[in-house]
Amino acid sequence: QASLEKIESTKNLNAYISVLNDRALERAKESDKRRAEGKSLGALDGIPVAVKDNMCLTGTRTTAASKILDNFVAPYTATALEKLEAAGAIIVGKTNMDEFAMGSSNETSYYGPVKNPLDESRVPGGSSGGSAVAVASGTVPCALGSDTGGSIRQPAACTGVVGLKPTYGRVSRYGLLAYASSLDQIGPFGATVRDCATLLGAICGIDPHDNTTSTRPTEDFTAKLGTGVKGKVIGVPKEYFGEGLDAECKAAIENMLKKMEAEGATIKEVSLPHISYAVSSYYIIATAEASSNLSRYDGVRYGYRSAEARKLFDLYAKSRSEGFGKEVQRRILLGSYVLSAGFYDAYYVQAQKVRRLITDDFTEAFKTCDVIASPTMPGLPLKCGMNESDPMAVYLSDIYTVSLNLAGLPGVSVPCGMAGGLPVGLQWIGKPFQEADLLAVAEATE
Ligand code: GLN
Repeated sequence: QASLEKIESTKNLNAYISVLNDRALERAKESDKRRAEGKSLGALDGIPVAVKDNMCLTGTRTTAASKILDNFVAPYTATALEKLEAAGAIIVGKTNMDEFAMGSSNETSYYGPVKNPLDESRVPGGSSGGSAVAVASGTVPCALGSDTGGSIRQPAACTGVVGLKPTYGRVSRYGLLAYASSLDQIGPFGATVRDCATLLGAICGIDPHDNTTSTRPTEDFTAKLGTGVKGKVIGVPKEYFGEGLDAECKAAIENMLKKMEAEGATIKEVSLPHISYAVSSYYIIATAEASSNLSRYDGVRYGYRSAEARKLFDLYAKSRSEGFGKEVQRRILLGSYVLSAGFYDAYYVQAQKVRRLITDDFTEAFKTCDVIASPTMPGLPLKCGMNESDPMAVYLSDIYTVSLNLAGLPGVSVPCGMAGGLPVGLQWIGKPFQEADLLAVAEATE
């Protein structure tokens, strides 16, 4: 009830697309009953959680913040949400986001932008801005988002909360509306690292519905919390701390690294020689996959259908032209272009090769360190309106986050001091499937 009231009183932030009042209260009653009978399902039983509106939940509207899915009611539930509810969590609402998770500013939603509660002239980050703001504004203690190129870590950084992108394959993507399938991953937001660890433990694991999920047994991601950074080697990529990084953000991160050193960690410079190609290869691969994934929205099977169409081709063209927003159309055009016969080798194949080189860079760097530290964002949260005036600058703000998705690595953004009165995000990058170690280091930052 308290969570629902808080959602109502913070409505101006536009963090939610749907609020599930009745469903949530009903489940809360069941949870109370379990508790009274001493049958609690564990740490998440009765905890209100908000989930990004690109995850299907049976019988509820699931829009991906697009007009094309404005009327879509999910006929099945995403595995991650099924697991969340099996652990007793109460889904209180579906959060606002960039349309189809395309963006870093949360301004491309059909339902209007999400506001940053810390400074309304700046964006909350995207594309899971609704989930980040849901936590930052106190409507829920934790939330789920999805991260294709930074969409959990960036809004976490912009709003001063913790956001974790797990290793690719850690969490099932079944029921997550696909943006770029080889990059997409669901992950948690929380006020603390421990909350994120608990949430990850509930939602991870192999799923017969998603054959990219890992066969690794699920683990207790809270197990190593509290062990600190003593004896850990922290890699600092020299390419990440040079030109393009805001001086105040840099200082905040360097301060934190000094503190880690004082606590017994060793700071070691590492190199990621191909990292300057990360943003360009990401935007080729992500848009290529998006152009294919989004071909399913054709005005025939589900979603928006243009009332104007008289012929089949017009039905496709008009439904898609009217149903998709400008940014989504831009991505489909880009993706179709890089996959087209004349340009496939020059762009798509090249980008895949670069992706391998970037992955190899990380493998090499991790031979000499346990975790890697980096900024989450190159500067303060972007000013509102930039997605319209300078989309290229918005793409470039993904510089520190997209490489992890290309390499499939886990990463967590934790608040680390302030710059210009706003929180700075420190991104910890881990070895594949080493989230427990990664979170232990991240927690030492709190
Ligand atoms: N900003 C990136 C993009 O627009 C990442 C988005 C995401 O992680 N979903 O593609």
